[in-house]
Amino acid sequence: MDGKFDNDIQAVVDADRAHVWHHLSQHKPYETTDPRIIVEGKGMRVWDQKGKEHLDAVSGGVWTVNVGYGRERIANAVRDQLIKLNYFAGSAGSIPGAMFSERLIEKMPGMSRVYYCNSGSEANEKAFKMIRQIAHKRYGGKKHKILYRDRDYHGTTIGCLSAGGQDERNAQYGPFAPGFIRVPHCLEYRAADQGAPVENYGEWAANQIEAVILAEGPDTVGGICLEPVTAGGGVITPPEGYWQRVQEICRKYDVLLHIDEVVCGVGRTGTWFGYQHYGIQPDMVTMAKGVASGYAAIACLVTTEAVFDMFKDDATDPLNYFRDISTFGGCTAGPAAALENMAIIEEEGLLENTTRMGHYMLDRLAELKDKHAVIGDVRGKGLFLGAELVADRATREPMAEKKVQMVTADCMAQGIIIGATNRSLPGLNNTLCFSPALIATKDDIDQIIEGVDAALTRVFG
Ligand code: PLP
Repeated sequence: MDGKFDNDIQAVVDADRAHVWHHLSQHKPYETTDPRIIVEGKGMRVWDQKGKEHLDAVSGGVWTVNVGYGRERIANAVRDQLIKLNYFAGSAGSIPGAMFSERLIEKMPGMSRVYYCNSGSEANEKAFKMIRQIAHKRYGGKKHKILYRDRDYHGTTIGCLSAGGQDERNAQYGPFAPGFIRVPHCLEYRAADQGAPVENYGEWAANQIEAVILAEGPDTVGGICLEPVTAGGGVITPPEGYWQRVQEICRKYDVLLHIDEVVCGVGRTGTWFGYQHYGIQPDMVTMAKGVASGYAAIACLVTTEAVFDMFKDDATDPLNYFRDISTFGGCTAGPAAALENMAIIEEEGLLENTTRMGHYMLDRLAELKDKHAVIGDVRGKGLFLGAELVADRATREPMAEKKVQMVTADCMAQGIIIGATNRSLPGLNNTLCFSPALIATKDDIDQIIEGVDAALTRVFG
């Protein structure tokens, strides 16, 4: 560290205010208040520049630190690997890369190949490129359209925003890439808003996808990208029947099923992957955040052997391989961290804990719903939960975003960091989000629930 910053946290705050462009942030407030600097973390808790302790109910803000803070064994594994070999381009293999691939594929029956890169957006871009290349190799370029769902988010690049179902994220960044087609979302709580039946809603919502495929022409649709449980779009857990029907439709029209597990992947919902709750077999799976719990940057695109085979089936074609690279996708620290992360989840039984604590937290959120009329719906899977706030339960009119932010701010003042679906959906940024680390205990959850209870009482009476 630069000597001038040692023991002088105000110098750090000043440097941050002067030079750091924070993600997804308005900077005007920093003219009068200090930006928050997170200095340290241990287990479920972090400390800011003022030494204030926060219980982190969102795993690093964006569903990432699945195994909690301060894991020395991951840090040591990364350190040892960096000293041995920090980097070589991904056209060659590496020891941690090969080992982690094998471990990962063991958790994903039916899947076969791991393509390394750095972020969720990048992994999704690569999946889109594969779908496009398959369209060119096999279908003369025609079967190139990629479907995505209203309210889903797949990343921040122009390609991913082209597949972005969150209009507030997309606004002012167009024009977008052609060939991305939106399909309706699947949120049972708002079925009536779609004019949909409440009975068999899952099947109805999946059938909307079929209608889009038929309208576009099945010979033009190459793939569909879906979150297993929609994250920032409102913590949306599709009902019974949805995923089975989606898979059926994909098979019927030869549409590659790409599941975006960037949030749900590696334990968040109580199974290794979110799609595994629904008994489906994807063609492509992307993952990032929880893969190494934020101890190193790593993302993966995992495919079936059948997808892999499509890139090696024509020896006469000089373009017959996936002509893609990711410079830092060859860094060895990522898979080294991911291996330890996975070992921790297994050794500490964190999938089981996630399921147990997830049920407990959902029950406790349901109690809050009984007490506070502003909670219209509670939902989620494992330790990935949401509470949708409404101004009127009967009409489901969404609570104003400002009021929702008052709840998150009140929790923050209490030293509890919770999330909300802010800055994503016009008029629908009304869901409180909870995603504590997979190590959460009943005491941690009680503290979160009591904090939210107090905040709701203060804001809404
Ligand atoms: N996919 C989903 C479902 C996400 O929630 C995100 C980020 O929040 C991304 C993709 C993009 O990941 P990244 O920010 O690592 O590019």
